[in-house]
Amino acid sequence: MQAVEALTVSHYRSSLVDRIRRQGGVLAAGDLIVRLAKEFGFCYGVERAIDLAYAARNYFPEPTRIFLLGEIIHNPEVNDQIRAMGIVSISPRPTDEELAHISAEDVVIIPAFGTEVDTRRKLEAKGCILVDTTCGDVMSVWKRVRQYSKESVTSIIHGKARHEETKATTSQATAYGAGHYLVVYDLVETDAVCDYILHGGDKDAFLQRFQGSYSHGFDPEVHLQTVGVANQTTMLRGETEEVQRRIRRAMEERYGAPEIGSHFRVFDTICGATQERQDALQHLLQEPMDLLIVVGGYNSSNTSHLAEMGEKQLPTYFIKNAAMMESAGLIRHWNQHSGREVETTDWLPNRPLTVGITAGASCPNNLIEDAIHRLFELRGVSLQGVLADAPAA
Ligand code: SF4
Repeated sequence: MQAVEALTVSHYRSSLVDRIRRQGGVLAAGDLIVRLAKEFGFCYGVERAIDLAYAARNYFPEPTRIFLLGEIIHNPEVNDQIRAMGIVSISPRPTDEELAHISAEDVVIIPAFGTEVDTRRKLEAKGCILVDTTCGDVMSVWKRVRQYSKESVTSIIHGKARHEETKATTSQATAYGAGHYLVVYDLVETDAVCDYILHGGDKDAFLQRFQGSYSHGFDPEVHLQTVGVANQTTMLRGETEEVQRRIRRAMEERYGAPEIGSHFRVFDTICGATQERQDALQHLLQEPMDLLIVVGGYNSSNTSHLAEMGEKQLPTYFIKNAAMMESAGLIRHWNQHSGREVETTDWLPNRPLTVGITAGASCPNNLIEDAIHRLFELRGVSLQGVLADAPAA
């Protein structure tokens, strides 16, 4: 790990970001002020996963084959770098055909968000070398969900049913006991579940609505009688707490407050890094700003929540890299509501501006540096000149 640390630092670190942080998170030049959130970018889980992937290549040099289940983290630049080391990405849930090509001599890396129980068992049966980079915070959620399952409690998971982490978590809910699971994405879905708990309803319509989000054999009439709430680690904390509150209230109304312990469990499983980044953005949003740039992979859950927080308050552009800022008149950015990249014109008005910047837990600092450089470049300011003139803090 020590041997690869210097390499990962050289790939992903930014001396500019370090410098702005040292001087209080603000850089002003010309008529542009850039404010950085206090916490952003790589979290400990992501750093560890990347270090382990680099260490795997170092320890098992070519010609040993190394495969990776899906993406190491949700950032295209980082994944390109991993691929450039000869690490081959296969499906997060490999087919039998893909598995047939893997032998006991091969190395398989499990990404930071983990893998499904079934996939892990198949790989173990192959006898290949597993490099498991699953984050400890994700494993804490699994522990809770396994416990629910052992007690025949249905796990209600606040998360995105198609996200790798949630898929891995739901697999834990059924693999070790008689448990079931149901994934709720937002408060609208939570209210539909609460309504069923309180009043019952059309079972087929309920199952149709949540198709793809519940365990095999799930019956809302039976499996919503005793529930435990957990969540994907990267959801918005405020929303997760509201999901917990609403389900608890429904259970109290349905079974009476004295019985709540027999029908409802809850554990807060939002990870510390996600929380710190959301808190830091909340703090940044209290500053006067004209717009916000959120840098990160479009399939990154925690990054999308940062963008969601920003867009409630000011023009917010969720970009995967600096190249998205094509000109002062055109930016291409991710619209998570329509699920596609969109273009906005005249996004960088020609007047004194303050721009906030944050980034998700899977975004390296060098990409944030690129975004800062690009912003100043679009305002006709060369940062090289500014930084050369200013004494280092
Ligand atoms: S966002 Fe949280 S759970 Fe995910 S890898 Fe980072 S620390 Fe772990």
